[in-house]
Amino acid sequence: MTIAAISTAVGEAGIGIVRISGNKSLDIANKVFKGNKLDILNENHSKRLVYGHIVDKENNKLIDEVLISFMKGPYTYTREDMVEIYCHGGIISVRKVLDLILKNGARLAEPGEFTKRAFLNGRLDLSQAEAVIDIIRAKTDKSFETSLNQLEGSISNKIKEIRNILLEMIAHVEVSIDFPDEDIEEVTYEDLEAKGATVKEEIKKLLLTADRGRILRDGLNTVILGKPNVGKSSLLNAILRENRAIVTDIPGTTRDIIEEYVNIDGIPLRIIDTAGIRDTEDIVEQIGVSKAKESVEKADLIIAVFDISRELTDEDFEIIDIVKERKSIILLNKIDLPNKFTKPYFQSIIGDKQIIETSIASQIGVEVLEKSIKDMFYSGEVEIYSDTVITNVRHKNQLEKALENIKHALHDIRNNVPIDCIEVDLKNCWENLGEISGDTIGEDILDKIFSEFCIGK
Ligand code: GDP
Repeated sequence: MTIAAISTAVGEAGIGIVRISGNKSLDIANKVFKGNKLDILNENHSKRLVYGHIVDKENNKLIDEVLISFMKGPYTYTREDMVEIYCHGGIISVRKVLDLILKNGARLAEPGEFTKRAFLNGRLDLSQAEAVIDIIRAKTDKSFETSLNQLEGSISNKIKEIRNILLEMIAHVEVSIDFPDEDIEEVTYEDLEAKGATVKEEIKKLLLTADRGRILRDGLNTVILGKPNVGKSSLLNAILRENRAIVTDIPGTTRDIIEEYVNIDGIPLRIIDTAGIRDTEDIVEQIGVSKAKESVEKADLIIAVFDISRELTDEDFEIIDIVKERKSIILLNKIDLPNKFTKPYFQSIIGDKQIIETSIASQIGVEVLEKSIKDMFYSGEVEIYSDTVITNVRHKNQLEKALENIKHALHDIRNNVPIDCIEVDLKNCWENLGEISGDTIGEDILDKIFSEFCIGK
């Protein structure tokens, strides 16, 4: 079936691209295209741009002036024959061109269907296909680079390596099962143990990159906590002012929780500004409070703001209790006003936490805060600049399952459990990893993955 979709973002723009893929691409293109110099596009025009018009030939109505490109498979994005039509941007032209193409025999592509075809036709493995969506969604240079590496095969290659070792192990085991008299078991167990240990280490290494990978992809979940009027909004604005805001994302525009993305020297920060933790009668505020508590649970970092110009209250102490246990930075704000308590006093109640004195209103201390966020992030034990970083939760889950299976196999190998029992775990491990590359994967999971894509990709 030949599919078509608008592949560029809808809106006013210089050009918009409609894409067609499938064995009828050329036919359909010829039904709607009228070249200036040539009557009909053919295979000799593959990968050349041709100038002309899209015309509804039923009533000879002009639709748009375009450039068109036919690309003969298999050297295309989907490996199928493809056509791209470059029309004028804006909402009307691309829509009309697409409608005409659909009228002439193409079906509207599902989200991600072009990339799904690229996967099904073997041009990309699954982790590479997933990288495509991450590239589109990347919000910082670093997450873009990581996704690009993934598209180039960084994860695929690593997974392939590990699976090859597993395959050797499985082959060994099968030989021992098939030829039990050959007395090769001794050698086999030793060899299996060595190889199994390598597999385990490699999987563990990949898993170690996962937390940072998630942060790279989704941002460092940062919650600003503090009772009303301590300066939370002022802080958020100060950070936004200094750092290029990437996306302003206010789903459902809640009055209680505001989310902003900023980029501090390559570290994506997803800042959740909450209504603060406090008991309240107001129902909207209550939603805010429960969401605030929920966000705190999921936070990678809490910035807790206190007002040094007012005496500490019960609300402050409640917040102190929350942040004590968690990764957090303390701000004592409004140092420009007469102080009601001192930093050493506060340190004595909060314990071993970093405290920064600020006057957000006069931009004092904000840079110190940003520097300590950076320090926290980079001081982690995992080297973030490695090529292969696991950023995808699905991959992480599969790796965790694979780790369990190889651990189990190793345990059995060390205890000289009958060799056919070991084979089951090895095969499971091999399949867990195969789901990352898409070598062993069910149709339902595939559908789920590609449904996250946008239409036209
Ligand atoms: P929020 O309720 O925690 O979000 O607090 P806001 O950011 O709205 O600030 C409450 C009030 O405190 C505002 O009038 C701010 O201008 C003021 N404010 C914020 N930071 C400072 C500061 O460092 N010094 C002084 N003097 N006032 C501040």
